[in-house]
Amino acid sequence: MTVRNAGAHRLWIRNPLAILAEDSAGGIVVEGTRIVERIPAGGQPATPVHETLDASRHVVIPGLVNTHHHFFQTLTRAHPAAINKPLFPWLKALYTVWDKLTPEAFRLATRLAYTELLLSGCTTAGDHHYLFPKGLEASVDIQVEEARALGIRAFVTRGSMSLSDKDGGLPPDTLVQDDDTILSDSERVLRIFHDPAPGAMAQIGLAPCSPFNVTKRLMRESAALAERFDCRLHTHLGETLDEDAYCLALFGQRPVDYLEEVGWMNPRAWLAHGIHFNDDEVARLGRAGVGVCHCPTSNMTLASGLCRTCELEAAGSPVGLGVDGSASNDSSNLMEGVRHALMLNRLTYGAEKVTHLDALRWATEGSAACLGRTDIGRIEEGREADLALFTLDELRFSGAHDPLAALVLCGAHRADRVMVAGRWRVIDGHPVGLDTRQLRERHGELARRLFGTS
Ligand SMILES: [Zn+2]
Repeated sequence: MTVRNAGAHRLWIRNPLAILAEDSAGGIVVEGTRIVERIPAGGQPATPVHETLDASRHVVIPGLVNTHHHFFQTLTRAHPAAINKPLFPWLKALYTVWDKLTPEAFRLATRLAYTELLLSGCTTAGDHHYLFPKGLEASVDIQVEEARALGIRAFVTRGSMSLSDKDGGLPPDTLVQDDDTILSDSERVLRIFHDPAPGAMAQIGLAPCSPFNVTKRLMRESAALAERFDCRLHTHLGETLDEDAYCLALFGQRPVDYLEEVGWMNPRAWLAHGIHFNDDEVARLGRAGVGVCHCPTSNMTLASGLCRTCELEAAGSPVGLGVDGSASNDSSNLMEGVRHALMLNRLTYGAEKVTHLDALRWATEGSAACLGRTDIGRIEEGREADLALFTLDELRFSGAHDPLAALVLCGAHRADRVMVAGRWRVIDGHPVGLDTRQLRERHGELARRLFGTS
C-alpha cells in the first residue's frame, strides 16, 4: 500500500504513446519519489496534480537496471592490446595497462559510465569494481560521490583480487590486496554507504572478482560479512570453458561446486555471465535462488558462449542484464544490451520463445531481483518513480507499428527523458547539469595519456 505524502509535488505523465505497465494507457502519477497512481485509458488522476507532462510522443518503460559493469574500463575501449582475444589472454593483456589507473582518471571514468547508462535509460547502475592499485584505495567512495552528483541510483560492489600470478592467479602482484585489507575495507564501505532500506539511492555489495583471482578464505569471509550487513554477494562465474579447466586444475572441482563449498549457494548471490553450467548445476542454482546477470554484448565480443537464461529462470534463478565492462562491450548502453539479449537468445532458443517483452523484463524486474530489490523494476503504485521515456522520432523508427516492440527491434539507444526517484535526470536527451563535451574531452585526454599507444 502506498503512503501518501500530502505536501509532495504531484506530476501526471499523461497519455503516453505506449507504456510498459498494466491498465495505464492514461499515464501515471508521480508523487515525491514514488509512483502513486496508474490511470486507465481516458481516466483522470484521483486527486489534483501540480504539473502535467504530455507524453503522447513517449514510450514509457521502467528505468533499466544494470547488474554488471566495470566503469574503469571506459578508459581502455577498443584497446589494440586486447581486441580480438578471448577472456584469459584479453585479461592478461589489460592487467598491465590498468596498473596505471589514477584517482582522477577513475573519477572521470565513473562519471562517464554513469552518464552513458543514464542516457540509455538506465536508472540503477551496478558496478563491480575490483581494481585497487596504490592510491586508489577510496574507489568505492568516489563511485558513491559521483552517483550522488548525477542523481542516479548506485549499486556499487566492493570487488577484490587477492591471488596474483605468483600464487597461481591471473593478475600481476601490483593489482592484488591481501585478504585482511580487503575485508576491513569492505566493512568500512558497508558501514558508511550501504543503505538496505527501500528507496535507497546507494547500496553496497561484496564482490570477490572470480575463482581465478581470489582465495577461498576471502569468498567464505565475504559471505559471512554479507550476512552481518544484510548485503548482496556478486562474482564472475561460468564465463568461459578456460575457467572450468582452471577450477578443475587448481581446486579439483567445477565452478558451481566451488561456489557451494565457499557458502555462496543462496539468494544473496548473483553471478556475472553464468554460461557454462550443466543441467544439474542449473537446477541447483535455481533451487538456491542464485541470480544470474546475462551480459549478451560482452559474451558475443569475447565469444564466451550462450547463457542458459530460459532454463535458469525456469529453475528459479532471477535473470538480469548487464552491459559488462567497457573493454569487452565496448559501450555502456543498456538499451542496446536489451536488443542484443533478444537476438542472442533467439539464436539459442528460437524466434517464438524469446520476445521483446522478455528482454525488457530481464533488464528491469529481473535485474532488480538480482539486486534483491522490490522497490524498483516495475511501473506500479508504491514503487520508486524510476522511468525511461523514449521518442520514436528518428528515421530508424519510421513505419514502426508496435511502439514497445519498436524500441527493441528498431534499436532505441538514447532516452529522451529519464527520471530517478521522481526527479528528471535526463531532459531532451541531455543529462541535467552536466557538460558532456567537457567530460568527453577530459576523459579522452586521460585515457590517451595513461593508456594510449602513441
Ligand atoms: Zn565482468
